[in-house]
Amino acid sequence: MHEMSICMSIVESLEATAKENNYQGIDKVWLEIGPFSGVEIRALEFSFEVVTRDTIAHKAELEIIQTQGQAWCFNCNKIVVIEQRYDACPVCDLNQLTVSGGEELKIKQISIKE
Ligand SMILES: [Zn+2]
Repeated sequence: MHEMSICMSIVESLEATAKENNYQGIDKVWLEIGPFSGVEIRALEFSFEVVTRDTIAHKAELEIIQTQGQAWCFNCNKIVVIEQRYDACPVCDLNQLTVSGGEELKIKQISIKE
């Protein structure tokens, strides 16, 4: 499962941060995920629970922040919101878009165990 390896690298990064800052544990993790990141949220949540077992983020709560898909429209000359990667522009209905947002998958914030 693709989500499993994503979670593994998230945990690696959490452990590195914790070690660096002497954190005792991590309570909660906020992940920012775009609609074009290719990640299935439910699979990610499941993987997170499995992968964090016996790590610094053991039993940490996972909060997923879903971002919007965005694209630059060459015809409108502005950024528009799209739902699918190959959608036409919702404003002018032309297909002259370049995706400019929605591929993110990153740790937005963490909460430290006191
Ligand atoms: Zn347009």
